[in-house]
Amino acid sequence: MALSEFEIIQQIFQQHKFDRQDVRLGIGDDAAVVEVPEGHELAISMDTLIEDVHFPKDMKPKDIGYRALAVNLSDLAAMGAEPAWVTLALTIPEANESWLKAFASGFFGLADQYNVQLIGGDTTRGKLSITVQVHGLLPKGNRLSRSGAQVGDQIYVTGTLGDAAAGLRFWNEPDHSFSWLKKRLARPTPQTELGIGLRSFATSAIDISDGLVTDLGHILSASNVGASVNLEALPLSLALCGVVEFEKAREFALAGGDDYELCFTVPAKELKQIECLKHAGQISYIGEIEAAPGLRCLDRDGSELDIAGLAGYQHF
Ligand code: ADP
Ligand code: MG
Repeated sequence: MALSEFEIIQQIFQQHKFDRQDVRLGIGDDAAVVEVPEGHELAISMDTLIEDVHFPKDMKPKDIGYRALAVNLSDLAAMGAEPAWVTLALTIPEANESWLKAFASGFFGLADQYNVQLIGGDTTRGKLSITVQVHGLLPKGNRLSRSGAQVGDQIYVTGTLGDAAAGLRFWNEPDHSFSWLKKRLARPTPQTELGIGLRSFATSAIDISDGLVTDLGHILSASNVGASVNLEALPLSLALCGVVEFEKAREFALAGGDDYELCFTVPAKELKQIECLKHAGQISYIGEIEAAPGLRCLDRDGSELDIAGLAGYQHF
């Protein structure tokens, strides 16, 4: 059934109950009003998802709703911010109630998990496009950024890399062996708790949306340093290694985007924290920050892999 704009807002987006005390005014007025707690600053980030550019046309609406919020929470995680509020600009070709309900259930499912409240947005007609803006809280002056990596720092990544890119490549393969990889594309897990935990000792962080080579490259240029990465240490999933040759898996891990894992740097002198990272599970030490500019990806025998042709996704 088709809904009017007012019905979409009221029946789909205003229905969901949140209980954040810091929202003075949520959906329904001309603007939302929120209270930033004493001693905190706001971290604000926005991401747009466009059909056929950021997700395949036949991705389930529930997954689209989940993913639109997840990729934004991932940006806050990379800043070490605690998510609080979110706004949603939704452009849809038609007001299809069952599509909207499924979209909202994916979106709200994740929002509830992280206690982030939808406080407003905009609803328009057009080619499917979803813009989400998240607002997160940081203790004053205490944030992660791309620009603090120092020579000698250790480089870490969370989870496994290359899965989502493989999920996209094999999106139309019906075989069960691809389903986990496709799920990694459809439902990335934002590394929120880890980002908050890293705030006190990591020197830099970024979330991997465009591939390790590209995103670690952003840390290196923002920090004015270089790095060596040990190819043998790249975390690869069994699912990925099960469907492509090892060399190809490594390529997905280096150049494939959409995993939304974190890459971060830690000073080698932070012995206690490094010991904790070793035991945290799902965190891999992959290399070191160096003075010589550029990124070197080294094999076991010390030979360097040519990464020039491996750049991540670029829109323009
Ligand atoms: P206005 O015309 O004053 O801009 P709108 O009719 O666009 O108001 O929106 C009415 C209320 O509904 C506002 O509070 C707005 O933030 C909220 N809203 C509109 N679309 C969405 C959406 N997709 N998700 C959440 N809130 C929305
Ligand atoms: Mg409006």
